[in-house]
Amino acid sequence: MIGLTILGSTGSIGFNTLKVLDQHRDRYFVAALTANRDWETLFKQCLSFQPRYAVMVDASAAHQLSRRLTESGLDTQVLAGSRALEEVAAMAEVQYVMAAIVGAAGLRPALAAVRAGKRILLANKEALVMSGPLFIEEAERHEAQILPIDSEHNAIFQCLPPGFRRGLRTVGVRRILLTASGGPFRVTPLEAFHEVTPEQACAHPKWDMGRKISVDSATLMNKGLEVIEACWLFHAEPDLIKVLIHPQSIVHSLVEFIDGSVLAQLGNPDMRTPIAHALAWPERLESGVRSLDLLEIGKLEFEAPDLERFPCLGLAYQALKAGGTAPAVLNAANEVAVEAFLHRRIRFSHIPGIVEQTLEKLEYGTLQDLDDVFESDREARRLARHMIG
Ligand code: NAD
Ligand code: MG
Repeated sequence: MIGLTILGSTGSIGFNTLKVLDQHRDRYFVAALTANRDWETLFKQCLSFQPRYAVMVDASAAHQLSRRLTESGLDTQVLAGSRALEEVAAMAEVQYVMAAIVGAAGLRPALAAVRAGKRILLANKEALVMSGPLFIEEAERHEAQILPIDSEHNAIFQCLPPGFRRGLRTVGVRRILLTASGGPFRVTPLEAFHEVTPEQACAHPKWDMGRKISVDSATLMNKGLEVIEACWLFHAEPDLIKVLIHPQSIVHSLVEFIDGSVLAQLGNPDMRTPIAHALAWPERLESGVRSLDLLEIGKLEFEAPDLERFPCLGLAYQALKAGGTAPAVLNAANEVAVEAFLHRRIRFSHIPGIVEQTLEKLEYGTLQDLDDVFESDREARRLARHMIG
């Protein structure tokens, strides 16, 4: 039996992970579940999976959860606070850690799993964007396996030959084509961007996801973060990665080789596929996802991304090329701007400007240790919040 910790189990990725695990209770057991403050959902998940530990970051939610679990006669132990996330990510009875917390809050626990040499099923792309080279170096040092959950990166991983870590050129890769659905506003007139509501931005045409990543998909910042994520995961030069808009979200990404071959991974847009892949790799596991019906889909379309419409994608390339702490600044400014938009304090069309100005105004330093990352993260948040007022 393989023991798992699921960081962020009450979110969209957490839910899908539990759906896959529910079909394979003979092979995996859940050792720990964690959430920020939604104790009611965590309680239901504890009833079903009976983990040894449940972590709530929020102390009063931890108290509520603990009371309900005791009433129900469950002996799941409740831990409170963000340090407990690191504990359950690193504990000995766990082999695999699903890193599915959203945003910068996921970095420390994901890194704790890396340092404990676990298999990390990495959904939390922000962690890698912020700390890329440090995160990868630590994984190599501690022999932690990182398996990508982001559907595009999981697709690329499936298409790459073993040994890609020696360098993409040495295994004959010419370029990586990272696909993007284009989000809900791919063809919306630019003038209408000003009036976009959080509900409209979160109504993704192909994927059902958490609110933050849904807004990122609508601005295309999600694809920008994914370009950065791909560079670190696959040891790729920024110019080797090209973004391709593909509205059907069936081709999850492609790898082109020097002989002209192009390999792609296709599937229905359902996160249970990459989750099952990363759980079972190098084997395969039933995920519950239905067969892909290409006759029903009929047509697969591709187009170039429009950088004037979606400046966030260009800003991400800019931060990636600047290097050092610039991606951490980009990520922090974006998190603040998206949060403000979701709380209706700024308009959708203001998001790129806030990220751009934060990148312009802050000096980026080199990335030597985690302190550099958190320092840049703090400064960028302060500046972005100040701009929003
Ligand atoms: P979500 O908002 O649905 O869930 C987030 C989870 O993180 C919840 O369990 C929440 O309790 C927890 N959390 C939030 N803030 C926290 C904090 N400060 N401390 C501790 N825990 C906290 O998000 P999601 O859509 O599941 O996405 C999770 C991550 O996976 C993101 O980084 C996202 O970019 C990535 N991802 C998601 C999808 C998808 O289909 N949803 C696809 C690819 C990548
Ligand atoms: Mg993705």
